[in-house]
Amino acid sequence: MTWRSRLGSLFRRKPAAARSFTACPQCGDKMIFVEKYTMGGDDLRTYRCDRCQSEHTLDFGPALWTYMSDTDKP
Ligand SMILES: [Zn+2]
Repeated sequence: MTWRSRLGSLFRRKPAAARSFTACPQCGDKMIFVEKYTMGGDDLRTYRCDRCQSEHTLDFGPALWTYMSDTDKP
């Protein structure tokens, strides 16, 4: 693989931070992503709001791996 093709694949990559922040459910300000964890197949993400000085855990629904496992079912 040449350096040119490696560079091309880098630029073709989608913007990683399409949803890098989420609005605070309390004040509407943007929150900083803290951590992500899956529990019981749900995609839960913790964000910290500087304005509220508190962290909010948001439920983003079923985690990606549950979708992938579903495709294996007949
Ligand atoms: Zn807030």
